[in-house]
Amino acid sequence: MSEGPKRALLAAPRRFEVTPGPAHSLGPADVRMDVLAVGICGSDLATFRAGDAAPDQVLGHEIVARVSEAGALPVGARVMVRPMRSCGRCWYCAQGSTQLCDRSRELTLSFQRPGGYAEELILRDLEPGDVILLAADVPILDAIWAEPLAVALHCVAALGDTRPGDALLVVGAGPLGLCVIAAAHARHLKVTVVEPRPARHATALAAGAQAVYRPGEPIGAFPWTIVAAGTPAALRLAVESTAPHGHIAVAALGPAPLPPLPHPIEIHGSFGYRTEEFHQAATLINTHAVRLGAAVTRTFPLTGINAAFAYALDDQDAVKVAITPGAAGWPP
Ligand SMILES: [Zn+2]
Ligand SMILES: [Zn+2]
Repeated sequence: MSEGPKRALLAAPRRFEVTPGPAHSLGPADVRMDVLAVGICGSDLATFRAGDAAPDQVLGHEIVARVSEAGALPVGARVMVRPMRSCGRCWYCAQGSTQLCDRSRELTLSFQRPGGYAEELILRDLEPGDVILLAADVPILDAIWAEPLAVALHCVAALGDTRPGDALLVVGAGPLGLCVIAAAHARHLKVTVVEPRPARHATALAAGAQAVYRPGEPIGAFPWTIVAAGTPAALRLAVESTAPHGHIAVAALGPAPLPPLPHPIEIHGSFGYRTEEFHQAATLINTHAVRLGAAVTRTFPLTGINAAFAYALDDQDAVKVAITPGAAGWPP
């Protein structure tokens, strides 16, 4: 096997090593792509901190790429890549809950198949809907939000039967919170946000929030609440701010324990997204209904991935951070 394009592997807690991977040839239904940009997800940050990736695991699942060699797709086409894969045959797939597929970890990019922190991405046995063509006038940094926006759409749906004009509280306006705000705005909900960092208030308003408060300010009680921060304080604030018989959906699954409930509240866990929710997210981006590119506070080349993660974890002004592995430099 000859030496192939570079990719980042997590060698220890808080340390990636960027080295050439093996060179791969393509099968008849495979597609080779240059990775243009990859958003850093909160789950990647947790893995980076813990250093608990598998030896050959290439992380990075918020991927925009450009086709460099393929049968089914035009060379040069820019695409949003749907990383979450499913078998189509198990009980969960039969229910349409493709995100819970029995074979999800085995098939999903950035788990047992390589993700996007690499110069090159090869998609094996491409099927329709695995990638969505990016509209010509959509900036790449708007498009890296397709995957977390799909997570957010799933979370809004998990709340239950919301109606246009309903009031929604979103706790947390980090990258996932911004997606929840944008998704709820696209579903015509009236969004109020609580976020401790003042630097994030303007981006929350730009994403579609009607009002943004800091924790501790009086906000009243809401029929619908989404928790988009993985802290015990966020969950507590959500419980205290949700009206009797209201609903809470938890987008950021974490180890936070459930606080005592002051009155009856329904709490819904939300994980991943159905295949069609990724397509809905891509459509919102392709039609400019959701434009979050301005919330990417910094981009880093693949060789700067350790600095990128340190910035995302440690800098109070960081919102979304993207890796831009393109060999031709950035912008591509
Ligand atoms: Zn993610
Ligand atoms: Zn399945």
